[in-house]
Amino acid sequence: MTITSSVLDTIGNTPLIRLNRVSDDTGCEILGKAEFLNPGQSVKDRAALSIVRDAMARGDLRPGGTIVEGTAGNTGIGLALVGNALGMKSVIVIPETQTREKKDALRALGAQLVEVPAVPYRDPNNYIKVAGRMAERLKRDNPAGAIWANQFDNVANRAAHIATTGPEIWEQTGGKIDGFICAVGTGGTLAGCAMALRTRKPGIAIGLADPPGAALFSYYTTGELASEGGSVTEGIGQGRITANLEGLVVDHAFQIPDAESVTTVFDLVRDEGLCLGTSSGVNVAGAVRMARAMGPGHTIVTILCDPGTRYQSRLFNPEFLREKGLPVPDWLEADGAMLP
Ligand code: PMP
Repeated sequence: MTITSSVLDTIGNTPLIRLNRVSDDTGCEILGKAEFLNPGQSVKDRAALSIVRDAMARGDLRPGGTIVEGTAGNTGIGLALVGNALGMKSVIVIPETQTREKKDALRALGAQLVEVPAVPYRDPNNYIKVAGRMAERLKRDNPAGAIWANQFDNVANRAAHIATTGPEIWEQTGGKIDGFICAVGTGGTLAGCAMALRTRKPGIAIGLADPPGAALFSYYTTGELASEGGSVTEGIGQGRITANLEGLVVDHAFQIPDAESVTTVFDLVRDEGLCLGTSSGVNVAGAVRMARAMGPGHTIVTILCDPGTRYQSRLFNPEFLREKGLPVPDWLEADGAMLP
């Protein structure tokens, strides 16, 4: 395809990149799906498009309508660009703790940004609940419709990965794939890819890579939703079984400390020339642990979710890293220092 009919046709069909250093170190093929190459620069463009198309198909949303969502950023960026391309407005409710870069991207796309304090899900002022209430109000006075995208419990999210990401991975590996692993925000990516891949290869190993402070590592290893600590990672870390996660069974679960995930991010810069966000660090670190658990000779796929530039002020800021007690890569340590 040399001319696409709109930006929407550029969502998905991302390359699968061999991560050379970790593949050579483990004796496995560790492959990363380059989701940072989507037009909104993240894996969430797929879910955004699927959610909007699903709402349109049900007659809940038409051009001129409004999309409302509570999001840590990437889903909002995806919804805003999909909305713009389809003539819809977007209202994004975001916890004020998210990076400036993500908020700036949302403003640049013309989304209406509603910043709210970061309070737990059980609090009625939680960003997800605020978004739900706003959509209800907008629905009443917009004849073209308004929706709450509800990415956590709207299975149109998971459906995007069942229909696109999973089958793409299967085609790209020619079916030579033994494992798939990634972190969970809503669970759409993990559960959707797992479903698509298990249909094609029932014995495939599915893994969860969880950051500290999330409850799923505990859930999939002990059956109890429990969490401890916190993490500098963004966009991932779930405390409950969302509708998108329902029915998911995992074969491997790993909890990846921040020191390990940020070191992985910096290794990917140095070894592969890939500058990625924190969740990609969790994912690749998880893929390495899964490779070690499965032994050499296996092909394991994970997701490279979004670019490092989205986290410049934190992940690539020596002061922030030092404050959190995290390793600082030597090329950031001294001003003007370069990679050897
Ligand atoms: N990585 C990043 C950077 C994200 O923004 C998200 C989504 N919030 C995820 C990973 C997790 O994807 P999912 O919602 O499909 O679990």
